[in-house]
Amino acid sequence: MVDIRSVHKSFGSLEVLKGIDLEVRTGEVTVVLGPSGSGKSTLLRAINHLEKVDHGAISVDGALIGYRRSGDRLYELPEREVLRQRTRIGFVFQNFNLFPHLTVLENVIEAPVSALKRPRKEAVESARRLLERVGLADKADAYPRQLSGGQQQRVAIARALALEPKLLLFDEPTSALDPELVGEVLDVIRDLASQGTTMIVVTHEIAFAREVADTVVFMADGRIVEAGPPGEVLGAPREERTRAFLAKVL
Ligand code: ATP
Ligand code: MG
Repeated sequence: MVDIRSVHKSFGSLEVLKGIDLEVRTGEVTVVLGPSGSGKSTLLRAINHLEKVDHGAISVDGALIGYRRSGDRLYELPEREVLRQRTRIGFVFQNFNLFPHLTVLENVIEAPVSALKRPRKEAVESARRLLERVGLADKADAYPRQLSGGQQQRVAIARALALEPKLLLFDEPTSALDPELVGEVLDVIRDLASQGTTMIVVTHEIAFAREVADTVVFMADGRIVEAGPPGEVLGAPREERTRAFLAKVL
């Protein structure tokens, strides 16, 4: 489903991704761990072409992200095409990023109506089902500021699902939440995993990774240090760098 090959990215003279290779199979959950500044967010943003890579290629569901190949050469896709690709990849951010002036229901139907041109009535019906699924059917008419952080994040997940994405990306979805609200958001992500949603989740929640991940990837300093099933990477890490990180966060 996701194929990341030899991806490099620098900001000025700072090389942030130093050759990333990663494959994610359909229906699998990949959890990405690593210290601050290791390049986790940059990698997620590259998958969505929010960051342009300097070298290498990323494809999602067979489509090259941001480029069109012709012979040996790559040509950048026009912005309109990039936006269309992005509608098939859901992105959930640390800080929810809901539209503050729209109600919960309006937040969820915004993209299907404006980007996918879905009829409003159909979008509303589907949004109500999604809100039910994240346990917020009764909050459809509330505004984001009237919700707890955990509730806002669950709305953000419903909003991402409204585009029926092939792939969901989560960038530290629980790290802005009070500890007692973390569980309700992880429960929703766990539920999506059990239904076979393909996801890449950047998180520091090790217990969650152990339980839900098919693959755990440990990144440090712009590289994948090790990757494998949670039992191996978390239970019996091969690399000293991974052991040192886990010793700090566990
Ligand atoms: P954290 O756990 O703190 O979120 P991270 O692993 O997500 O860290 P990134 O946000 O990918 O790390 O950042 C990797 C490096 O790239 C950092 O040194 C950061 O300062 C730098 N960086 C990220 N975005 C930019 C940018 N737009 N311009 C310049 N430097 C950037
Ligand atoms: Mg980050």
